[in-house]
Amino acid sequence: MAISKTQILIVEDEEDIRELVRYNLERENFAVTEAESGEAGLKAVAKKKPDLILLDLMLTGKDGLQICRELKQSDASRDIPVVMMTARGEESDIVTGLELGAEDYVVKPFSPKVLVARVKAVLRRKAAPSVPDAEDVLRIYDIVIHPGRHEVTVGGKLVDLTASEFGILHFLARRPGWVFTRYQIVDAVHGEDYPVTERSVDVQVVGLRKKLKKAGDYIETVRGIGYRFKDEE
Ligand code: CA
Repeated sequence: MAISKTQILIVEDEEDIRELVRYNLERENFAVTEAESGEAGLKAVAKKKPDLILLDLMLTGKDGLQICRELKQSDASRDIPVVMMTARGEESDIVTGLELGAEDYVVKPFSPKVLVARVKAVLRRKAAPSVPDAEDVLRIYDIVIHPGRHEVTVGGKLVDLTASEFGILHFLARRPGWVFTRYQIVDAVHGEDYPVTERSVDVQVVGLRKKLKKAGDYIETVRGIGYRFKDEE
């Protein structure tokens, strides 16, 4: 039986970029479909059922965010990962896209190598939807997180965290490699010590990193977007 190739749909109105992306993905043995507008992209999704969608945000007609919203609202396409392709300086659009449910993004001009790596990483995470249960003990690097006991150890040493710091660490560490906006973090973490606001996420991450010492480096700031727990490669 032939093993079918992983299907990637590129929705992008610039032909040069479509060609560059297609060339680099085909070289990695992906099957590539192109759509030159958002509307054509939606049709291609319905017809081809791609495994992943590369979505340009700046499209004529329906823009990428609108397409992303429609994809994520439909049962048929909700689970197809979306990687946004954006121009520099579109941080607020990236934030909106992530909150709509896009999985990741690349900023133009991107290196084809980076793009291919992102596509593979998103597909890998999709293939192994192993987000641990909220109650499970989580081990990552030298960090052990005990949700039941609200305890964290680094290298076997107990670290004293506030409820909000614990919540943020646990939320991010359960999904290494994923970028989350401040709003998504606030939404997921209801601090018991005091209300968590978007700005206070920054303050708490500073405190968290300080307490985690060297392990604090695993919490990466994604400039203009939010935070991500470093992926164990
Ligand atoms: Ca464009």
